[in-house]
Amino acid sequence: MRKILEHAMGEARKEIAFGETASYIPELGQVDKNQLGVCIYTSDGKKENIGDTDIRFTIQSISKVITLAVALERCGFYKVFEKVGMEPSGDAFNSLVKLDLSSNYPYNPMINSGAIAIASYLTPIISFKKMLEITRKLCMDEQITLNADVYLSEMSHISRNKAIAYLLESKGIIPGGSVQESLDFYVRMCSLNVTAESLANFGLVLAQGGIHPKTGEKLLDKEIVRVVKTIMLTCGMYDGSGEFAVHVGIPSKSGVGGGILSVVDKKMGIGIFGPALDGKGNSIAGRYILKSLSKELNLHMFA
Ligand code: GLU
Repeated sequence: MRKILEHAMGEARKEIAFGETASYIPELGQVDKNQLGVCIYTSDGKKENIGDTDIRFTIQSISKVITLAVALERCGFYKVFEKVGMEPSGDAFNSLVKLDLSSNYPYNPMINSGAIAIASYLTPIISFKKMLEITRKLCMDEQITLNADVYLSEMSHISRNKAIAYLLESKGIIPGGSVQESLDFYVRMCSLNVTAESLANFGLVLAQGGIHPKTGEKLLDKEIVRVVKTIMLTCGMYDGSGEFAVHVGIPSKSGVGGGILSVVDKKMGIGIFGPALDGKGNSIAGRYILKSLSKELNLHMFA
């Protein structure tokens, strides 16, 4: 496996020149786009770390997976999906276009509108401190903290997400008066500092149906994990999710910090860090690596 991974990484590095960091959050624009790290954690307990797997970067949209799982656990399936759909949107993650049509709810929990709506359901019942604790446990990484620079950078360039939140409020999707605290919760979750290894750890928890690979402790309900993985498959790679599912076939979630969380069911968790993004917001090298791993290791879910 290490050889296959090394080869894929070598080829993927050539893609980096064609990607850019997410400069719409100024602090993310400062990151060196040539960094690349992959960690694979398999269900037999083996771990492969190659490249920059211990460098901290912000989790960004991958936090939507955690928020969704916690919301399903605390609020229940009906409440979560009462006003947030389960369909791919086919639009950018921060699009307002379809949301403004009077009949439309957020398409799914993996785009900003859906995640902000879910944040508004959680803020009255769970603190950010508790969310951080849960994130550390799911990622088996006690070093996860809030990246204050990225948090402040995003909070001072929040207009678009604010517009989304006010639109949600005007349509009665989030409670009146909850815009500020929902946005704060959402951006804090996006600003958590993880590593490729933390994502691989979380990936293996999901691959094993919510069970901690070392202690056997049940961290998440199996049914919740099933829902989360399905939504990752259909909506996890922005508006590139359909093509990614055809070519790679591994439920994944990416973030504009350059991370990708991937779950090969029952077999492994994969965590990637590669901050050069393609036009859709996915790590360009990360996408390449997953495509070659899927092919070389026969990981496509319909292989
Ligand atoms: N915090 C980012 C935003 O709301 C997350 C985007 C992403 O990773 O998709 O724009």
